[in-house]
Amino acid sequence: MIPRERILSVLSKYDESDVKIGTICSHSSLQIFNGARREGLRSVGIVLRENKPYYESFPRASPDIFIEVDSYGDLLSEETQEELISENVIMIPHGSFVEYVGSENILERFGVPMFGNRLTLYWEGDRRRQRKWLEDAGVPTPRIYRSPEDIDRPVIVKLHGAKGGKGYFKASSPEEFYEKFSELKERGLVGSLEDVVIEEFIVGVRFYPHFFFSPIESENIADLEGGRLELLGIDRRLEVIDEIHRGLPDLMEDFMDYTVTGNIPVIVREKYLVDLLRDAVKIISSSRRLFYPGLIGPFCMEMIYNPSRGFITFEVSTRIVAGTNLYTDGSPYSYYYYDEPMSMGRRIAREIKEAVKSGSLHKIIY
Ligand code: AMP
Repeated sequence: MIPRERILSVLSKYDESDVKIGTICSHSSLQIFNGARREGLRSVGIVLRENKPYYESFPRASPDIFIEVDSYGDLLSEETQEELISENVIMIPHGSFVEYVGSENILERFGVPMFGNRLTLYWEGDRRRQRKWLEDAGVPTPRIYRSPEDIDRPVIVKLHGAKGGKGYFKASSPEEFYEKFSELKERGLVGSLEDVVIEEFIVGVRFYPHFFFSPIESENIADLEGGRLELLGIDRRLEVIDEIHRGLPDLMEDFMDYTVTGNIPVIVREKYLVDLLRDAVKIISSSRRLFYPGLIGPFCMEMIYNPSRGFITFEVSTRIVAGTNLYTDGSPYSYYYYDEPMSMGRRIAREIKEAVKSGSLHKIIY
């Protein structure tokens, strides 16, 4: 793993008056570039050659500088990294960046300063490790089944490393599990039981709150013990299964699919805001214990509200999530913190700008 000191030494040679925001042209990059623009920072977009004409077509959201590549793997080349460093670029990781470049490659081979703490990639990337984090935080989580033989109620079976719910299935007994598991095996999607996680299926309403944590701003919630936590929006992911009623009165198998296809805005009953914030504080405190300095910047908790058990967290994403694209002009919650349109992309740029001003850029970079 590239040590933090090495990244901070690269950062120490940056011209802070010309820091630029960089990311891969995909996922939430338009929001990130637009946010940078609104904060008066310049930006650099790493773009696939064939995509450039389209990314150029947004006057208020295209990056100032393009770096064209044939594949995103090129980001790991010495030449591209040197170019990014010479432009004083701070990379903003998003879902596509992590998926296309790979967590391990980022940790071992990507020497460009990144916004946030790259150790989160290590803690989030592996489901078992992430579970340890959630348990350390003390937030309620779904039960995990070590063996299919133990299945005694509906479970959701998740593929390791699967992106966006693809291939997940539901089962209510060991027999049903094995039947569906062998189908996946025949299709080559899984090899052994090691490739799946069997998780209690939680009945309830899904919420995906988007948080931003600033370690450099002054404390706004006492339990945080430093730093400022903001809830900048909430979404719900639109998955194929959400449309299952359209097949009624039959129950069409193809609708039993958790693939994420889009996002819709959500607000939560106001009294539940306290639960969301309280659990987010626990996640931050635990991240500091497990991987100091812990979470920095955007993160999203994936939660289900169950009427008798309250909010149950089944996953944490430790970066800007695509659901924030709903709120390019702010959200019903961002207005309680900012009297101006504050998207997550803009909030990131604001944090970098403020850190430069106060000489604390090194505190939010790894
Ligand atoms: P994930 O890959 O963990 O984000 O899960 C993809 C989707 O599967 C979620 O957005 C939920 O709709 C569903 N899901 C995940 N975990 C559970 C669970 N424990 N209970 C019910 N639904 C779940």
